[in-house]
Amino acid sequence: MRILLMGPPGAGKGTQAEQLTEILNIPHISTGDMFRKAIKEQTELGKKAKAYMDKGELVPDEVTVGIVEDRIKEDDCADGFLLDGFPRTVNQADALGKMLGNLGIKLDSVINVEVPFEELIGRLAGRRICKSCGATYHMIFNPPEVEGVCDKCGGELYQRDDDTEETAKNRLEVYEKQTAPLLEYYENTGLLVSVNGNQSMEQVLKDILKVLGK
Ligand code: ADP
Ligand code: AMP
Repeated sequence: MRILLMGPPGAGKGTQAEQLTEILNIPHISTGDMFRKAIKEQTELGKKAKAYMDKGELVPDEVTVGIVEDRIKEDDCADGFLLDGFPRTVNQADALGKMLGNLGIKLDSVINVEVPFEELIGRLAGRRICKSCGATYHMIFNPPEVEGVCDKCGGELYQRDDDTEETAKNRLEVYEKQTAPLLEYYENTGLLVSVNGNQSMEQVLKDILKVLGK
């Protein structure tokens, strides 16, 4: 199954992707995670991406499209994948269409996780991530059992540099301008289904699985 998860920053894409990829047994392709890994490893890609990410801007399409193209050609993506955070511009969506066409494959579903804008800043500001396994928590909505420690692996939790209120606000503006137009783009393909992301994580997961016929 080839799935695209859409929605503004903080909508819960990563949270749902953790569960969905396990249930459906497909790899999770998150461009944000790929950039964060590159920054941690201080690669050339990481150096390029950091300047944009720190400001809450998008990393240029030329850079982003290339890493996704390389990733979806890997063997573990042959039977499906879940894209999270890509595409984010119409240009990226066109490039994805071409990539998939060249590989002779198509998306099965585009799911838009909808959350009222006023909820998003609080979700982003309270988000904490595990340094070791990448699991996502929220200080209020999904706290770990022991403060600062990952329930799954015992790793240390941290706050993303771009989850400060000011940068998060800019990311939401960037989403409105550059990414929201993609909803109409995928609406026109007949693949887009919106799910209410303003409910418990368990209910959001159930609703997405229902859309996928699972
Ligand atoms: P995205 O990947 O779309 O940016 P995340 O999955 O990282 O969003 O979620 C953003 C924050 O909101 C995280 O701290 C997460 O724990 C929290 N969160 C996710 N889904 C829900 C939900 N249904 N209700 C409340 N908080 C949520
Ligand atoms: P995310 O983890 O999806 O919230 O992404 C974090 C940051 O990584 C974004 O604010 C962008 O700077 C960058 N990024 C992630 N995915 C993309 C993309 N598809 N296009 C451009 N920049 C991206």
